[in-house]
Amino acid sequence: MSGLSRIIGSKGPSVDACDHEEESGHGGMGAEHDAAEHEAPSNGSIDTSQWGIDANGDGDAGLLETLGAGAGWLIGGDRGSEQVGGWADGAEALAARERIDTFIASTHSVQNYAFQGWGNFDLSYTPTAGTVEVTVRIKFDFQDGTPGPDEDAAGYTWTDDEKAAWKTDFMDSVASTWSGQHQFACVTTDGELDASPTWQDLEPTVRVAILEDDANPQFNVTVARIPDGGFARSNVGRPDRDADGNVTAPGTAALDSEDMDATTKNTSPDGVTQRGAVHEFGHMIGMQDEYTSNPDNVGDATRQGTTKGMDDNDSIMSGGEVVQQAHYSSILEALNAAVAPSAVAFGFK
Ligand SMILES: [Zn+2]
Repeated sequence: MSGLSRIIGSKGPSVDACDHEEESGHGGMGAEHDAAEHEAPSNGSIDTSQWGIDANGDGDAGLLETLGAGAGWLIGGDRGSEQVGGWADGAEALAARERIDTFIASTHSVQNYAFQGWGNFDLSYTPTAGTVEVTVRIKFDFQDGTPGPDEDAAGYTWTDDEKAAWKTDFMDSVASTWSGQHQFACVTTDGELDASPTWQDLEPTVRVAILEDDANPQFNVTVARIPDGGFARSNVGRPDRDADGNVTAPGTAALDSEDMDATTKNTSPDGVTQRGAVHEFGHMIGMQDEYTSNPDNVGDATRQGTTKGMDDNDSIMSGGEVVQQAHYSSILEALNAAVAPSAVAFGFK
């Protein structure tokens, strides 16, 4: 035997109950599943020198082919025994190795994902890079306002420099505020892997980005010019979807020139501020407001599992800019849809 061919014998199914055969169980509304977008592995963070595995040397390719084509993944305890029965230990291990190699060499993605019917974003996980790219495609429309009779028109008129600066600030701030706040770890158990890379070696890190896309936006965003120091209410509207969850019209957002200025909100703790546009991005990935002005709503659960309140909350979806683990709920759900039947959970490096 050579290389990695020391195979640990099968002990039957090794399993956490991660049976994700049905994509619909994960998809949420509007998930367009596309996990079969194969790409050649690039120079990533995983040591590919160990991927090759010498079989058990019996040359039993026929058994391996049968295993690969028909077995599915050995995830889910009560299916395991009948599948494993009668198979050579080495064959099972080799098949498990082939499954993870194929997974690592592929890009796993979903498009136009909605979280409980809200939001609209794309997600693409490339195991060789170790990164999950979360992107929202936006068409910007900068609009001048209309001054009142005694007001200065300049306060309602964008200059080209102002537009460019606002857009750059928004895109950079969303990326820096929302990226890398919480770590994911793969929780798949599958077969017998006696050397890296194993499923537990996969630790996707989140990168969030806004992509400017006038031709195919997920949100049409207007940015109104209002006088410096002024205030206008901003909002995000979800896209229209058909019964199958496919987007029939982009979402919308109404932002303004003051939305990149840090301001104190009603629910901000002392000394805490928020840039409104960075908060509004949370809505674009399906998050719900955690503040309320209605006493009847205090204590209600949000979509992301947090609690609505009226004061002292530095959360990005309330009065501050703290991206809590709950605010990655939609990303986690979309990632699981993309990698099924593998599975991912919150974890720590
Ligand atoms: Zn909001």
